[in-house]
Amino acid sequence: MRPRFLVLTVALALAAILLLRRSTQVPSVPPAIGSGPDRSGVQAGGVDWDSVRAFRARVRQRIAESNTYLQVMLAEGDSMLKRWPERVANPIPIYIPEGGARGYRVAYGRAVENALNRWQRGSFIPVQFQRVRDSAQAEVIVRWIDRFATQRTGQAHVVWNSMGWLLRGTLMLATHTPDGRPLPPDGVYTVALHEIGHLLGLGHSDDPDDVMYPTTRIHDLTTRDRRTAGLLYALPPGSLGDPRPPSAP
Ligand SMILES: [Zn+2]
Repeated sequence: MRPRFLVLTVALALAAILLLRRSTQVPSVPPAIGSGPDRSGVQAGGVDWDSVRAFRARVRQRIAESNTYLQVMLAEGDSMLKRWPERVANPIPIYIPEGGARGYRVAYGRAVENALNRWQRGSFIPVQFQRVRDSAQAEVIVRWIDRFATQRTGQAHVVWNSMGWLLRGTLMLATHTPDGRPLPPDGVYTVALHEIGHLLGLGHSDDPDDVMYPTTRIHDLTTRDRRTAGLLYALPPGSLGDPRPPSAP
């Protein structure tokens, strides 16, 4: 097993233990330098850190000038843009089990499919999903649970590499509210719409009218949701933080 995959395997095991966290970075491989800086600026034996710094500053400026909530994500200290590569010709296989939790209804599975379709058709991002029957083939897995112990009804967990490319994800969706009331399929749709936003790499919005507001009750993507996803998928993924070149020997 190659070291990189070994690291990934260990990280995935760790991620399973740390499911209470929304997301986990795979601690792996060299610094993210290939996220777009002009390669002509790469010097012999090293990286042109000035061009990396200038490139990241340009991306941060573009985000700051956009009417999107990518800016909120950066302001909250997450300076890593994460997204899937283009997955239209090769859709992301997703496994949605028919059951697995008390009170599961067939309409819940359909609600997740509808939420996936809403993002696929409504946001113009180059990502498609395809439902598969074998969880071993899936890159995204849905798990139904009875209810969360905390005040939530869904949770997305994503794994990415050091370049910011998303690799896989898990959506945990409850069949009941935290106080034990069964969720209507419509409620599952709303939760799934929000968690799929996280699965696509989006953070939270600061506007209660957006699907990606933390306590959303919104049933459809807003223009700002679509614009934010569109900008994320127009940008290269990776760190936007201040690069720290290795100290001179
Ligand atoms: Zn959220």
